[in-house]
Amino acid sequence: VKKVSQWMESANKKDISNIISFFYEDATENECSALHRLACEARDMHYNGRVYFRGLIEFTNYCKNDCYYCGIQRSNQNITRYRLSEEEILKSCERGYRLGFRTFVLQGGEDMYFTDSRLCSIISKIKEKYPDCAVTLSAGERSRESYKNLYDAGADRYLLRHETANEEHYRKLHPAELSLENRKRCLYDLKEIGFQVGAGFMVDSPFQTYETLAEDFIFLRELKPHMIGIGPFIPHKDTRFAGYYNPSSQHTLILLSLIRIMLPKTLLPSTTALGTVDKNGQRKGFAAGANVIMPNLSPMEHRGDYTLYDNKLYTGLESSEQLAALVRNIESMGLTPDFSRGDYVDMQNAA
Ligand code: SAM
Repeated sequence: VKKVSQWMESANKKDISNIISFFYEDATENECSALHRLACEARDMHYNGRVYFRGLIEFTNYCKNDCYYCGIQRSNQNITRYRLSEEEILKSCERGYRLGFRTFVLQGGEDMYFTDSRLCSIISKIKEKYPDCAVTLSAGERSRESYKNLYDAGADRYLLRHETANEEHYRKLHPAELSLENRKRCLYDLKEIGFQVGAGFMVDSPFQTYETLAEDFIFLRELKPHMIGIGPFIPHKDTRFAGYYNPSSQHTLILLSLIRIMLPKTLLPSTTALGTVDKNGQRKGFAAGANVIMPNLSPMEHRGDYTLYDNKLYTGLESSEQLAALVRNIESMGLTPDFSRGDYVDMQNAA
C-alpha cells in the first residue's frame, strides 16, 4: 500500500490520466478487485475498519446560483422551495442525537436568507445543546470573514466540492459569475481558518475527461482536504443536461479507491448518489475504500424537494429500524459502524 501511495503522491498528470483510463477501460474484474482491496487496506491502516455516521440535514433548497447540472439551480421553476426554521433544524438534531449521531451536516443551496447572524445563532445553539457533537456546514461560497464568523460560532467542518480543477471544464458547468478561482480561494480560506475541509467532484460530469480528472487528483493532492466527496453525476430532468447519460457506479468505485490510495487518511463518504445509481452502490463504496455514511435526518415533508438529481435514493431514517438495518449491513461487511464525532484521524485526539 505504501509503495502505491507514494507513487500516487508523486505521479504526474499523464501518469494519473493513464492509470484512470486503464481502470476505466482495460482492467479485468480481478484487477479492479485488487485495486479495491488495496484501498481498503489503506483505509484500515488509519481507521481500522470504522465507518462514521453523520446526520444530514438539508436545510434549504433556495439557491442564488444557477449551476447547470443541479436540480435546485435558481432558474428551476418546477420545484417547491423550502427552508427550515431554526426550530426545525434543532428538532432534526434532537432526533439525530437520540438515534446516536454525533455529527450533524447542514447542507443547502446558497440561500441569502441565512445571513451570518442567522447561521451563527443556529450553530451556537446546536453546540450549546450538544457540546459533544461536531457541526459540518455545506452552504457554498461565502467571504473569508463570513467563514471566520461561522467557525467562531462553533462550526467544525465545511464541505465545498471544488467540482472540477480545470478552468475550461468549470466554465462548461457553471455560469460566468462563478469561478474556479473563487471556489479554490474559499477552500484555502476555510482550511487556514481551522475548519476540517471537504472538497470533491461529480464523477462522469459532462465534459469530464481523463485529463480533467488528473487535474482533480493533483489539486486534491495539493489541498490535502480532510474529506473528499465524490459521487456519480446524475442528470436532472429540469436542467440542460437532462438525459445526458445513464449513470452507473463503476467509475465512482474506481476513483474512490484511487483517491483512498493517494490520500489514505481522508474521510471518504459512500454517497447517496452512489446508492441512487446502484442499489448496492453504498455497500460497494465501502468495499472500495469509503468510510463515511450520511443518512438523511431532514423532515420527511421536505425530502422530496431537495432534488439535486432525478430518482434520489431515500436513505431516510423514517424509523429507527432502518438505521439498525444500515448498521447491520455495515457490520456484515466486517466493518465497524461508529457514531462518534469521527474527526480526521490526526485530529481525533485534539478534538
Ligand atoms: N450549495 C452548496 C455547494 O455548492 O457546495 C451545497 C449544496 S450542493 C447542491 C451539493 C453538491 O451536490 C454539489 O457540490 C454537487 O457536486 C452535487 N450535485 C449537484 N447536482 C448534482 C447532480 N445532478 N448529480 C450529482 N451530484 C450533484
